Amino acid sequence: MIQADLHIHTVYSSDSLIQPKTLVDMLSAHSFIKVAAITDHDSVRGCKATVELASDYPDILIVPGVEITTQHGDMLVLGTEELPPKPWIPEAVVDYAKSIDAVTVVAHPFREYGMRDLARNYKFDAVEVLNGNSSVAENNEAKALAKSMNLPGIAGSDAHQVSELFTVNTKIEASLSIEGVLKAIKKGSVSAQVT
Ligand SMILES: [Zn+2]
Repeated sequence: MIQADLHIHTVYSSDSLIQPKTLVDMLSAHSFIKVAAITDHDSVRGCKATVELASDYPDILIVPGVEITTQHGDMLVLGTEELPPKPWIPEAVVDYAKSIDAVTVVAHPFREYGMRDLARNYKFDAVEVLNGNSSVAENNEAKALAKSMNLPGIAGSDAHQVSELFTVNTKIEASLSIEGVLKAIKKGSVSAQVT
């Protein structure tokens, strides 16, 4: 079993202050969270930089990803170092992710920029049921959405500054590999909790 923060912004998001080096140092120093997904806004430059820095640390894992802005709300793609081709409409991004065995997640569905019930129209792999920047009520609505869509629920801090890192985490029944993490999310071998 591993524990992961599956929604993190680095300075490659214009609204984040987290340096890749700081994230890698904090992940390395953390006693039980050893996996972090980099999900910058509409950019994969942060994951490339962080994956490279983390390659010196065998006990941590960076899952490359991206948070895509669509006209219906934000969505995460986990397991890609490439941007989906445009136009970024949810259906097309979901199809692209499936074609490369990446995982798609409805991000903070009931907060600003969330898809709300429109998420039901697309074939997502999971719902972010615990977002570190959402209220308890918003997260509870997200849990209900996941349940009614019969999808696994994951957790991510949505950190934009260092003090927000690792506030929540996803327990994953997998070994320390990107493929293992992605498969476990798709299978539903995950649970979300406050750290
Ligand atoms: Zn975010």
